[in-house]
Amino acid sequence: MHEQTHVTETGQDLYPADRLHIARAAAARAGLDALLISPGADLRYLTGYDAKPLERLTCLVLPLDGDPFLLVPALEVPAAQASPAGGLGIEITGWNETDDPYAVIAARLPSSVAHVGVDNHMWAEKTTAFHAVLQGARQELAGSVLSGLRMRKTPQEAAALRRAGEAIDRVHARMGEWLRAGRTEREVGRDIAAAITAEGHVRVDFVIVGSGPNSASPHHELSDRVIRPGDPVVVDIGGTTQDGYCSDSTRVYALGEPPEDFRRLHDVLLRAQRAQTDAVRPGITAEQLDAIGRDIITDAGYGEHFIHRTGHGIGLESHEEPYIVSGNQLPLEPGMAFSVEPGIYLPDRYGARIEDIVICTQDGGDRLNRTGRDLVVLP
Ligand code: ZN
Ligand code: ZN
Repeated sequence: MHEQTHVTETGQDLYPADRLHIARAAAARAGLDALLISPGADLRYLTGYDAKPLERLTCLVLPLDGDPFLLVPALEVPAAQASPAGGLGIEITGWNETDDPYAVIAARLPSSVAHVGVDNHMWAEKTTAFHAVLQGARQELAGSVLSGLRMRKTPQEAAALRRAGEAIDRVHARMGEWLRAGRTEREVGRDIAAAITAEGHVRVDFVIVGSGPNSASPHHELSDRVIRPGDPVVVDIGGTTQDGYCSDSTRVYALGEPPEDFRRLHDVLLRAQRAQTDAVRPGITAEQLDAIGRDIITDAGYGEHFIHRTGHGIGLESHEEPYIVSGNQLPLEPGMAFSVEPGIYLPDRYGARIEDIVICTQDGGDRLNRTGRDLVVLP
């Protein structure tokens, strides 16, 4: 493996070649003889290759003994070579339509391989095929090795997340262009989706426009409900940038003056979310951070209506480790990036959620979303 790096258009190396060495060392510590990585965030993290998930097998094979290689369908070889993986100095081999790619890999692995780490997102039909050709080899999730690497972002990754945060902030800042009484959630959502790609993403990951009572459903997406004057509207949006890094931010809007008790709910929520983003620092555990917001919301009488965890990690996937949830005693470290998104939902009435992506730094939490967190009242 040569020590080449992929230089992005912004001049920063997001996919350094030493990741393969680091991953192999981590696999060795975990007692794994090889990692088998299929298309998805782990493959992109390790090689920069944003491969299509297909029924045909694409697999990075990272053995403890021997050189790593990337086996791809013959027709995908040009795309793999054109990707950052082509600059890593690893072998990229194509398999032909009549080959059995699983047998090809099994034949190249030492017969002593007894314990393999398979990609967490590998399709079951592929793990089953590997099981058949690697007789007796026990399978474990490669994520047990890789998530620990992926959740500690390099400065280059943090910068990529910051660019994603700025991109989604530009969409929230334009919300008044589209969000108006008399339009349906779906009409507004279509405009938001177009803006997500216009403002620096290559993919729209999700668009939630929850108006009126729909705001009380955390994962409501879009409906044909016509938005009415006085409605609170929860807008939770995210996309993926060209670098592969994700954005995710929620703001709460009202079309004209909302009900008085909605203002009270939003004030409590904002107090909780601020307290949580202010509390981010190395050493605090994920569950302590969750409790800080939950206690404020509970003290205000809304505890039973905060029905989800505080947040999730973010990077090459919009949901990844670390999860900010009760029971997770992981101490936060510099480089960890995650959402802080408490919510309060009163069924059939309304709800609210405020969400920022935060990176833990030596000096505390660095919020990547900078649009105002107050209730935004639109005309
Ligand atoms: Zn979100
Ligand atoms: Zn989120």
